Amino acid sequence: MVERSAIKILILDDDPFMLKLLARILANQGFTAVVCCDNGRDALAQVDNETTRPDLILLDLNMPGMDGIEFVRYLVERQFTGSLILVSGEDMRMLRTAERLVQAHKIHMLGYLQKPVKNEALLALLTQWVPPSPMKPSVVKKKYSAEEIRLAINEDNLVNYYQPKVSVASGAVIGVETLVRWHHPQDGLVFPDQFISVAEAHGLINDLTRLVLSKAFAQARIWQQAGFELRVAVNVSMDNLASLDFQDLVAGLAAETGISPNKVVLEVTESQLMGDMRVSLEILTRLRLKRFHLSIDDFGTGHSSLAQLRDIPFDELKIDQGFVHRAWKDETLRVIYDTSLALAKQLNMEAVAEGVEDRDDWDLLRRTGCDLAQGNFISKPLLAEEIPGWIEVWLKRVQTELMIASSN
Ligand SMILES: [Mg+2]
Repeated sequence: MVERSAIKILILDDDPFMLKLLARILANQGFTAVVCCDNGRDALAQVDNETTRPDLILLDLNMPGMDGIEFVRYLVERQFTGSLILVSGEDMRMLRTAERLVQAHKIHMLGYLQKPVKNEALLALLTQWVPPSPMKPSVVKKKYSAEEIRLAINEDNLVNYYQPKVSVASGAVIGVETLVRWHHPQDGLVFPDQFISVAEAHGLINDLTRLVLSKAFAQARIWQQAGFELRVAVNVSMDNLASLDFQDLVAGLAAETGISPNKVVLEVTESQLMGDMRVSLEILTRLRLKRFHLSIDDFGTGHSSLAQLRDIPFDELKIDQGFVHRAWKDETLRVIYDTSLALAKQLNMEAVAEGVEDRDDWDLLRRTGCDLAQGNFISKPLLAEEIPGWIEVWLKRVQTELMIASSN
Protein backbone atom coordinates (compact mmCIF):
# COMPACT_ATOMS: atom_id res chain seq x y z
CA MET A 1 0.00 0.00 0.00
CA VAL A 2 1.39 3.34 -1.08
CA GLU A 3 1.23 6.14 1.51
CA ARG A 4 -1.29 8.79 0.49
CA SER A 5 1.25 11.51 1.14
CA ALA A 6 3.56 9.89 -1.42
CA ILE A 7 1.01 9.97 -4.23
CA LYS A 8 1.59 12.86 -6.59
CA ILE A 9 -1.57 14.66 -7.64
CA LEU A 10 -1.85 17.52 -10.08
CA ILE A 11 -4.89 19.79 -10.26
CA LEU A 12 -5.35 21.77 -13.46
CA ASP A 13 -8.09 24.38 -13.42
CA ASP A 14 -8.15 28.03 -14.49
CA ASP A 15 -10.36 28.91 -11.51
CA PRO A 16 -8.21 29.68 -8.41
CA PHE A 17 -11.16 28.98 -6.11
CA MET A 18 -11.57 25.46 -7.52
CA LEU A 19 -7.86 24.81 -7.11
CA LYS A 20 -8.04 25.77 -3.45
CA LEU A 21 -11.21 23.81 -2.84
CA LEU A 22 -9.97 20.58 -4.44
CA ALA A 23 -6.57 20.85 -2.78
CA ARG A 24 -8.24 21.26 0.61
CA ILE A 25 -10.47 18.19 0.14
CA LEU A 26 -7.42 16.17 -0.86
CA ALA A 27 -5.29 17.46 2.03
CA ASN A 28 -8.02 16.49 4.51
CA GLN A 29 -7.74 12.95 3.19
CA GLY A 30 -3.99 12.86 3.63
CA PHE A 31 -3.09 13.56 -0.01
CA THR A 32 -0.51 16.23 0.59
CA ALA A 33 1.74 15.92 -2.48
CA VAL A 34 -0.59 18.12 -4.51
CA VAL A 35 0.44 20.63 -7.15
CA CYS A 36 -1.99 23.22 -8.52
CA CYS A 37 -1.73 24.71 -12.00
CA ASP A 38 -4.01 27.28 -13.59
CA ASN A 39 -2.87 26.66 -17.18
CA GLY A 40 -1.98 23.71 -19.41
CA ARG A 41 1.55 24.81 -20.13
CA ASP A 42 2.65 24.78 -16.50
CA ALA A 43 0.90 21.46 -15.98
CA LEU A 44 2.74 19.86 -18.90
CA ALA A 45 6.03 21.05 -17.45
CA GLN A 46 5.15 19.04 -14.32
CA VAL A 47 4.34 15.99 -16.44
CA ASP A 48 7.57 16.31 -18.41
CA ASN A 49 9.73 16.34 -15.30
CA GLU A 50 10.53 12.86 -14.05
CA THR A 51 10.48 13.91 -10.39
CA THR A 52 7.20 15.84 -10.49
CA ARG A 53 5.25 13.63 -12.91
CA PRO A 54 1.82 13.11 -11.28
CA ASP A 55 0.16 9.77 -10.55
CA LEU A 56 -3.24 11.39 -10.80
CA ILE A 57 -4.51 14.49 -12.59
CA LEU A 58 -7.73 16.33 -11.82
CA LEU A 59 -8.47 18.09 -15.07
CA ASP A 60 -10.87 20.90 -15.82
CA LEU A 61 -12.34 20.66 -19.32
CA ASN A 62 -13.15 24.31 -19.91
CA MET A 63 -10.13 26.54 -19.77
CA PRO A 64 -9.12 29.52 -21.84
CA GLY A 65 -6.08 28.79 -23.97
CA MET A 66 -5.33 25.08 -23.86
CA ASP A 67 -8.57 23.31 -22.97
CA GLY A 68 -8.87 19.93 -21.26
CA ILE A 69 -9.29 17.91 -24.43
CA GLU A 70 -6.18 19.41 -25.97
CA PHE A 71 -4.30 18.74 -22.73
CA VAL A 72 -5.31 15.07 -22.97
CA ARG A 73 -3.80 14.90 -26.44
CA TYR A 74 -0.48 16.11 -25.04
CA LEU A 75 -0.69 13.52 -22.28
CA VAL A 76 -1.09 10.83 -24.92
CA GLU A 77 1.97 12.10 -26.79
CA ARG A 78 3.90 11.86 -23.52
CA GLN A 79 2.61 8.33 -22.89
CA PHE A 80 1.18 9.36 -19.55
CA THR A 81 0.56 6.25 -17.46
CA GLY A 82 -1.22 7.82 -14.49
CA SER A 83 -4.94 8.24 -13.93
CA LEU A 84 -7.31 11.06 -14.76
CA ILE A 85 -10.41 12.62 -13.23
CA LEU A 86 -12.37 15.06 -15.39
CA VAL A 87 -13.91 18.04 -13.66
CA SER A 88 -16.37 20.27 -15.45
CA GLY A 89 -19.43 22.45 -15.30
CA GLU A 90 -20.64 20.95 -18.58
CA ASP A 91 -23.63 18.63 -18.55
CA MET A 92 -23.32 14.87 -18.06
CA ARG A 93 -23.53 14.14 -21.78
CA MET A 94 -20.55 16.32 -22.50
CA LEU A 95 -18.63 14.72 -19.63
CA ARG A 96 -19.39 11.22 -20.91
CA THR A 97 -18.23 12.18 -24.38
CA ALA A 98 -15.00 13.49 -22.95
CA GLU A 99 -14.65 10.34 -20.84
CA ARG A 100 -14.95 8.15 -23.91
CA LEU A 101 -12.40 10.26 -25.72
CA VAL A 102 -9.93 9.81 -22.88
CA GLN A 103 -10.55 6.06 -22.78
CA ALA A 104 -10.09 5.83 -26.54
CA HIS A 105 -6.63 7.25 -25.96
CA LYS A 106 -6.00 4.43 -23.49
CA ILE A 107 -5.48 6.75 -20.55
CA HIS A 108 -6.82 5.40 -17.29
CA MET A 109 -9.96 7.31 -16.45
CA LEU A 110 -11.00 7.24 -12.84
CA GLY A 111 -14.24 9.12 -13.42
CA TYR A 112 -15.74 12.55 -13.73
CA LEU A 113 -16.91 15.21 -11.36
CA GLN A 114 -19.57 17.73 -12.12
CA LYS A 115 -19.17 21.24 -10.77
CA PRO A 116 -20.01 22.29 -8.14
CA VAL A 117 -17.80 19.49 -6.88
CA LYS A 118 -19.13 17.59 -3.90
CA ASN A 119 -16.75 16.38 -1.27
CA GLU A 120 -18.25 12.87 -1.21
CA ALA A 121 -18.13 12.47 -4.98
CA LEU A 122 -14.38 13.08 -5.06
CA LEU A 123 -13.80 10.81 -2.07
CA ALA A 124 -15.82 8.03 -3.71
CA LEU A 125 -13.56 8.18 -6.76
CA LEU A 126 -10.40 8.23 -4.66
CA THR A 127 -11.36 5.22 -2.56
CA GLN A 128 -11.86 3.04 -5.63
CA TRP A 129 -8.56 4.17 -7.09
CA VAL A 130 -5.67 1.75 -7.31
CA PRO A 131 -2.58 3.81 -8.12
CA PRO A 132 -0.72 2.33 -11.08
CA SER A 133 2.35 0.59 -9.71
CA PRO A 134 5.62 2.00 -11.02
CA MET A 135 7.02 -1.54 -10.98
CA LYS A 136 4.54 -2.64 -13.61
CA PRO A 137 5.19 -1.06 -16.99
CA SER A 138 2.01 -0.65 -19.02
CA VAL A 139 1.39 -3.85 -20.93
CA VAL A 140 1.67 -3.47 -24.65
CA LYS A 141 -0.58 -5.99 -26.31
CA LYS A 142 1.39 -8.32 -28.48
CA LYS A 143 0.24 -8.90 -32.02
CA TYR A 144 0.51 -12.39 -33.40
CA SER A 145 1.42 -13.47 -36.91
CA ALA A 146 -0.82 -15.55 -39.14
CA GLU A 147 1.69 -18.40 -38.85
CA GLU A 148 1.47 -18.44 -35.05
CA ILE A 149 -2.32 -18.47 -35.23
CA ARG A 150 -2.28 -21.28 -37.77
CA LEU A 151 -0.09 -23.24 -35.38
CA ALA A 152 -2.45 -22.55 -32.48
CA ILE A 153 -5.35 -23.93 -34.50
CA ASN A 154 -3.42 -27.01 -35.58
CA GLU A 155 -1.96 -27.74 -32.16
CA ASP A 156 -5.29 -27.28 -30.47
CA ASN A 157 -4.28 -24.40 -28.20
CA LEU A 158 -7.61 -22.60 -28.55
CA VAL A 159 -9.99 -23.10 -25.65
CA ASN A 160 -13.66 -22.22 -25.47
CA TYR A 161 -14.91 -20.27 -22.47
CA TYR A 162 -18.63 -19.94 -21.83
CA GLN A 163 -20.45 -16.94 -20.39
CA PRO A 164 -23.94 -17.65 -19.02
CA LYS A 165 -27.11 -15.95 -20.25
CA VAL A 166 -29.97 -16.04 -17.75
CA SER A 167 -33.66 -15.23 -17.76
CA VAL A 168 -34.29 -11.95 -15.96
CA ALA A 169 -37.82 -12.92 -14.95
CA SER A 170 -37.13 -16.39 -13.54
CA GLY A 171 -33.38 -16.51 -13.07
CA ALA A 172 -33.21 -19.72 -15.11
CA VAL A 173 -29.98 -20.36 -16.98
CA ILE A 174 -30.99 -20.27 -20.64
CA GLY A 175 -27.69 -20.67 -22.39
CA VAL A 176 -24.08 -19.63 -22.78
CA GLU A 177 -22.09 -17.54 -25.21
CA THR A 178 -18.93 -19.20 -26.45
CA LEU A 179 -15.86 -16.99 -26.19
CA VAL A 180 -12.62 -18.34 -27.55
CA ARG A 181 -9.29 -17.83 -25.79
CA TRP A 182 -5.84 -18.93 -26.74
CA HIS A 183 -3.84 -20.77 -24.11
CA HIS A 184 -0.46 -19.70 -25.41
CA PRO A 185 2.41 -21.95 -24.29
CA GLN A 186 4.62 -18.93 -23.42
CA ASP A 187 2.33 -15.91 -23.10
CA GLY A 188 -0.51 -17.52 -21.17
CA LEU A 189 -4.08 -16.44 -21.80
CA VAL A 190 -4.51 -14.50 -25.05
CA PHE A 191 -7.80 -12.73 -25.86
CA PRO A 192 -9.61 -12.68 -29.22
CA ASP A 193 -8.86 -9.01 -29.93
CA GLN A 194 -5.23 -10.09 -30.31
CA PHE A 195 -5.83 -12.68 -33.00
CA ILE A 196 -9.29 -12.57 -34.62
CA SER A 197 -8.58 -9.66 -36.95
CA VAL A 198 -5.31 -11.26 -38.08
CA ALA A 199 -7.16 -14.55 -38.65
CA GLU A 200 -9.76 -12.69 -40.72
CA ALA A 201 -7.15 -10.91 -42.79
CA HIS A 202 -5.27 -14.12 -43.57
CA GLY A 203 -8.13 -16.42 -44.46
CA LEU A 204 -7.91 -18.40 -41.21
CA ILE A 205 -11.25 -17.37 -39.80
CA ASN A 206 -13.17 -20.30 -41.26
CA ASP A 207 -10.79 -22.86 -39.76
CA LEU A 208 -11.01 -21.04 -36.45
CA THR A 209 -14.78 -20.85 -36.48
CA ARG A 210 -15.07 -24.51 -37.46
CA LEU A 211 -12.95 -25.44 -34.47
CA VAL A 212 -14.90 -23.24 -32.05
CA LEU A 213 -18.24 -24.51 -33.38
CA SER A 214 -17.35 -28.17 -33.19
CA LYS A 215 -16.02 -27.86 -29.65
CA ALA A 216 -19.06 -25.84 -28.55
CA PHE A 217 -21.51 -28.35 -30.04
CA ALA A 218 -19.68 -31.28 -28.47
CA GLN A 219 -19.80 -29.46 -25.14
CA ALA A 220 -23.51 -28.69 -25.48
CA ARG A 221 -24.08 -32.41 -26.01
CA ILE A 222 -22.13 -33.26 -22.85
CA TRP A 223 -24.19 -30.78 -20.81
CA GLN A 224 -27.37 -32.14 -22.33
CA GLN A 225 -26.46 -35.65 -21.28
CA ALA A 226 -25.79 -34.36 -17.79
CA GLY A 227 -29.28 -32.86 -17.68
CA PHE A 228 -28.45 -29.24 -18.54
CA GLU A 229 -30.46 -27.98 -21.50
CA LEU A 230 -28.39 -25.00 -22.59
CA ARG A 231 -28.55 -23.01 -25.78
CA VAL A 232 -25.04 -22.50 -27.00
CA ALA A 233 -24.21 -19.29 -28.84
CA VAL A 234 -21.23 -18.88 -31.15
CA ASN A 235 -20.00 -15.61 -32.65
CA VAL A 236 -19.80 -15.48 -36.40
CA SER A 237 -18.54 -12.54 -38.38
CA MET A 238 -19.87 -11.65 -41.79
CA ASP A 239 -16.56 -12.94 -43.14
CA ASN A 240 -17.70 -16.43 -42.21
CA LEU A 241 -20.73 -15.84 -44.32
CA ALA A 242 -18.87 -15.12 -47.53
CA SER A 243 -19.05 -18.69 -48.70
CA LEU A 244 -22.13 -20.81 -49.16
CA ASP A 245 -20.33 -23.75 -47.51
CA PHE A 246 -20.94 -22.18 -44.15
CA GLN A 247 -24.51 -23.31 -43.70
CA ASP A 248 -23.54 -26.88 -44.61
CA LEU A 249 -20.74 -26.70 -42.08
CA VAL A 250 -23.02 -25.55 -39.27
CA ALA A 251 -25.89 -27.87 -40.13
CA GLY A 252 -23.49 -30.78 -40.65
CA LEU A 253 -21.71 -30.27 -37.33
CA ALA A 254 -25.01 -29.98 -35.45
CA ALA A 255 -26.33 -33.17 -37.02
CA GLU A 256 -23.07 -35.03 -36.30
CA THR A 257 -23.09 -34.11 -32.63
CA GLY A 258 -26.83 -34.56 -32.27
CA ILE A 259 -27.57 -30.97 -31.28
CA SER A 260 -30.94 -29.62 -32.30
CA PRO A 261 -30.70 -26.35 -34.30
CA ASN A 262 -32.98 -24.54 -31.88
CA LYS A 263 -30.31 -25.07 -29.21
CA VAL A 264 -27.79 -23.16 -31.34
CA VAL A 265 -27.54 -19.37 -31.51
CA LEU A 266 -25.37 -17.68 -34.09
CA GLU A 267 -24.39 -14.21 -32.89
CA VAL A 268 -23.74 -12.19 -35.99
CA THR A 269 -21.58 -9.10 -36.27
CA GLU A 270 -20.97 -7.25 -39.47
CA SER A 271 -17.32 -7.22 -40.49
CA GLN A 272 -15.30 -4.19 -41.48
CA LEU A 273 -14.95 -5.39 -45.03
CA MET A 274 -18.42 -5.72 -46.38
CA GLY A 275 -18.48 -8.47 -48.94
CA ASP A 276 -21.40 -9.54 -51.04
CA MET A 277 -24.48 -8.99 -48.87
CA ARG A 278 -26.57 -11.32 -51.03
CA VAL A 279 -24.46 -14.32 -50.09
CA SER A 280 -24.59 -13.64 -46.35
CA LEU A 281 -28.31 -12.94 -46.53
CA GLU A 282 -28.91 -16.23 -48.27
CA ILE A 283 -26.84 -18.15 -45.72
CA LEU A 284 -28.55 -16.57 -42.74
CA THR A 285 -32.01 -17.04 -44.17
CA ARG A 286 -31.37 -20.71 -44.89
CA LEU A 287 -29.93 -21.30 -41.42
CA ARG A 288 -33.00 -19.62 -39.97
CA LEU A 289 -35.24 -21.90 -42.07
CA LYS A 290 -33.43 -24.86 -40.50
CA ARG A 291 -34.43 -23.38 -37.08
CA PHE A 292 -31.02 -22.17 -35.99
CA HIS A 293 -31.39 -19.03 -33.85
CA LEU A 294 -29.91 -15.83 -35.19
CA SER A 295 -28.81 -13.05 -32.90
CA ILE A 296 -27.78 -9.51 -33.84
CA ASP A 297 -24.74 -8.86 -31.65
CA ASP A 298 -23.57 -5.55 -30.10
CA PHE A 299 -26.72 -3.84 -31.31
CA GLY A 300 -26.41 -0.11 -31.75
CA THR A 301 -22.67 0.01 -32.37
CA GLY A 302 -21.00 0.79 -35.70
CA HIS A 303 -21.49 -2.48 -37.49
CA SER A 304 -24.81 -3.56 -36.11
CA SER A 305 -27.56 -1.43 -37.47
CA LEU A 306 -31.20 -0.93 -38.27
CA ALA A 307 -30.54 -1.92 -41.87
CA GLN A 308 -29.47 -5.36 -40.66
CA LEU A 309 -32.63 -5.65 -38.60
CA ARG A 310 -34.66 -4.89 -41.68
CA ASP A 311 -32.83 -7.42 -43.86
CA ILE A 312 -32.19 -10.41 -41.62
CA PRO A 313 -34.75 -12.47 -39.67
CA PHE A 314 -33.08 -12.31 -36.26
CA ASP A 315 -34.59 -14.04 -33.20
CA GLU A 316 -32.49 -12.26 -30.64
CA LEU A 317 -31.19 -8.73 -30.18
CA LYS A 318 -28.18 -8.15 -27.95
CA ILE A 319 -28.12 -4.62 -26.57
CA ASP A 320 -24.49 -3.59 -26.54
CA GLN A 321 -22.89 -3.34 -23.10
CA GLY A 322 -22.14 0.32 -23.74
CA PHE A 323 -25.88 1.06 -23.44
CA VAL A 324 -26.60 -1.21 -20.48
CA HIS A 325 -24.09 -0.66 -17.69
CA ARG A 326 -25.06 2.51 -15.78
CA ALA A 327 -28.15 3.13 -17.96
CA TRP A 328 -30.11 3.29 -14.69
CA LYS A 329 -28.47 6.60 -13.86
CA ASP A 330 -27.47 8.05 -17.22
CA GLU A 331 -30.32 9.61 -19.18
CA THR A 332 -28.78 9.25 -22.62
CA LEU A 333 -27.89 5.60 -22.11
CA ARG A 334 -31.33 4.98 -20.70
CA VAL A 335 -33.07 6.34 -23.80
CA ILE A 336 -30.96 4.16 -26.08
CA TYR A 337 -31.46 1.11 -23.87
CA ASP A 338 -35.25 1.63 -23.73
CA THR A 339 -35.46 2.16 -27.48
CA SER A 340 -33.45 -0.98 -28.25
CA LEU A 341 -35.59 -2.99 -25.87
CA ALA A 342 -38.80 -1.67 -27.42
CA LEU A 343 -37.47 -2.44 -30.88
CA ALA A 344 -36.77 -6.03 -29.88
CA LYS A 345 -40.23 -6.46 -28.37
CA GLN A 346 -42.05 -4.99 -31.34
CA LEU A 347 -40.11 -7.15 -33.76
CA ASN A 348 -40.77 -10.24 -31.60
CA MET A 349 -37.15 -10.79 -30.74
CA GLU A 350 -35.72 -11.82 -27.44
CA ALA A 351 -33.75 -8.94 -25.89
CA VAL A 352 -30.43 -9.73 -24.23
CA ALA A 353 -28.69 -7.06 -22.18
CA GLU A 354 -24.92 -7.42 -22.33
CA GLY A 355 -22.54 -5.87 -19.81
CA VAL A 356 -24.65 -6.34 -16.66
CA GLU A 357 -21.97 -5.38 -14.15
CA ASP A 358 -23.77 -4.73 -10.87
CA ARG A 359 -26.95 -4.96 -8.88
CA ASP A 360 -28.23 -1.61 -10.19
CA ASP A 361 -27.93 -2.82 -13.79
CA TRP A 362 -29.73 -6.04 -12.88
CA ASP A 363 -32.55 -4.16 -11.17
CA LEU A 364 -33.04 -1.96 -14.23
CA LEU A 365 -33.47 -5.07 -16.38
CA ARG A 366 -36.04 -6.40 -13.92
CA ARG A 367 -38.01 -3.15 -13.90
CA THR A 368 -38.01 -2.81 -17.67
CA GLY A 369 -38.78 -6.43 -18.54
CA CYS A 370 -35.66 -7.30 -20.49
CA ASP A 371 -35.66 -11.01 -21.39
CA LEU A 372 -32.10 -12.17 -20.82
CA ALA A 373 -29.05 -10.87 -19.01
CA GLN A 374 -25.35 -11.46 -19.51
CA GLY A 375 -22.39 -9.91 -17.75
CA ASN A 376 -19.92 -10.15 -14.90
CA PHE A 377 -22.61 -9.54 -12.29
CA ILE A 378 -24.08 -12.89 -13.31
CA SER A 379 -20.84 -14.62 -14.22
CA LYS A 380 -17.59 -14.03 -16.01
CA PRO A 381 -16.78 -16.44 -18.87
CA LEU A 382 -16.09 -19.89 -17.43
CA LEU A 383 -14.43 -23.09 -18.49
CA ALA A 384 -16.89 -25.80 -19.53
CA GLU A 385 -16.25 -27.90 -16.43
CA GLU A 386 -17.05 -24.94 -14.15
CA ILE A 387 -20.56 -24.48 -15.54
CA PRO A 388 -22.52 -27.15 -13.60
CA GLY A 389 -21.11 -26.00 -10.25
CA TRP A 390 -21.77 -22.37 -11.15
CA ILE A 391 -25.42 -23.12 -12.05
CA GLU A 392 -25.97 -24.60 -8.61
CA VAL A 393 -24.56 -21.54 -6.85
CA TRP A 394 -26.37 -19.14 -9.18
CA LEU A 395 -29.79 -20.67 -8.62
CA LYS A 396 -29.35 -20.32 -4.86
CA ARG A 397 -28.22 -16.72 -5.26
CA VAL A 398 -31.22 -15.93 -7.46
CA GLN A 399 -33.67 -17.33 -4.93
CA THR A 400 -32.11 -15.71 -1.90
CA GLU A 401 -31.31 -12.25 -3.19
CA LEU A 402 -31.91 -11.39 -6.81
CA MET A 403 -35.63 -11.85 -7.23
CA ILE A 404 -36.49 -9.42 -4.50
CA ALA A 405 -36.38 -5.68 -5.00
CA SER A 406 -33.13 -4.13 -3.94
CA SER A 407 -33.21 -2.51 -0.50
CA ASN A 408 -32.26 0.92 -1.74
MG1 LIG B 1 -21.25 -12.00 -28.91
